[in-house]
Amino acid sequence: MQIIKSKSLFEKAKNYIPGGVNSPVRAFRAVGGDPIFIKKADGAFIYDEDDNAYIELINSWGPMILGHNHPMIREAVIKALENGTSFGAPTAREVEIAELITQMVPSVEKVRMVNSGTEATMSAIRLARGFTGRDKFIKMEGHYHGHGDSFLISAGSGAITMGNPDSPGVTKGTAKDTLLAPYNDLEAVEKLIDANKGEIAALILEPVPGNMGLVLPKEGYLEGLRKICDREGMVLIFDEVMTGFRLAKGGAQELFGVTPDMTTLGKIIGGGMPVGAYGGKKEIMEFVSPAGPVYQAGTLSGNPIAMAAGLTILHYLDDHPEVYGTLNKIGEKIAGGIKSSVEKLGLNFTINHLGSMYSIFFTDKEVFDFASAKHSDTVLFGKYFQAMLKRGIYLAPSQFESLFLSTALNDELIGKIIQANEESLKEILK
Ligand code: PMP
Repeated sequence: MQIIKSKSLFEKAKNYIPGGVNSPVRAFRAVGGDPIFIKKADGAFIYDEDDNAYIELINSWGPMILGHNHPMIREAVIKALENGTSFGAPTAREVEIAELITQMVPSVEKVRMVNSGTEATMSAIRLARGFTGRDKFIKMEGHYHGHGDSFLISAGSGAITMGNPDSPGVTKGTAKDTLLAPYNDLEAVEKLIDANKGEIAALILEPVPGNMGLVLPKEGYLEGLRKICDREGMVLIFDEVMTGFRLAKGGAQELFGVTPDMTTLGKIIGGGMPVGAYGGKKEIMEFVSPAGPVYQAGTLSGNPIAMAAGLTILHYLDDHPEVYGTLNKIGEKIAGGIKSSVEKLGLNFTINHLGSMYSIFFTDKEVFDFASAKHSDTVLFGKYFQAMLKRGIYLAPSQFESLFLSTALNDELIGKIIQANEESLKEILK
């Protein structure tokens, strides 16, 4: 495998784009080496500028649940293009997708389309604040909700009742309204509530977090949060940008049987186009402008091309619930294969897995929150990443990310992934 064009593109990119990339993790900083630049992708494969092929385990960070460049989505986009790229006015497709989302995710009674997951979560928090008339909200350590100011509060920031800005540019004034709790710890949430009685608008979390690597909720945890929010009049927001339409047709809330007041969506909902959405109970959503006083808008929101792609994938998933059985089998085979290799090699790394998401943590400790995820040996992960890349497997370039599987992975490719994993582990531990 020769990587030449990607290297020279990266050198050039650094002259014109901060860090050479348009989103930080893409730069491979956490794993060393230079990023590969992508020319095209199809099915289970992604191809770099040097025409090297890699089996895809990120799938554009989640959206490509059926694999890349699916003919059905491609054709829908081409057909939509023939009628123009943007109108800035309502369309029939927006009504259709809104209706479909409310059917697939029943807790979403009304929905507003936006252009990214970041916009969805920012808007959801503003709405929860406007609806409750309260300023503060609870966020879980290690959970990612996009780059809105109030979400960029570090887990390692020390004080748990008073967030510290994690990024320059986020003011202390903003950070102080973000309260941090460790994931999977109901007691910590109760303590925050005691210290901020009647001041907390919302609790937002990834019901199954994928942004500190994949971590699963402990039994009763999501139910416990539901009870607490009911008792305190707080809006429970599930950020299902990753898990929506992936863990089940109705997302993690369907899988775990816990109903949030609001849900944020992204990734799969746009079929690979830039789309996000937030929705929830009618009484809350009626607070959004122009129905209500909370302002939120978008020049390109509900874009006709993006809606065509989104509608196509959502209709497909709605009509083919068996996709989730297929994805679960693929997930079991890959995660199971990796687990048996790890055992065979006498290792005790932690593998977290649910449906078509999994993470291998380079630690022998159970990973159930951000602190335990951080026990992982990130240097070793970097070596593992490079060893897998060399063998033609494209992983997320960070220990603290989940992998996303697609239905394009057949048994032959699954075998290759498992074999590459075993060889890579042997190589890095030599
Ligand atoms: N929420 C979650 C759970 C996410 O995983 C992400 C992105 N990975 C976002 C929000 C932000 O979405 P976007 O990158 O589209 O702004």
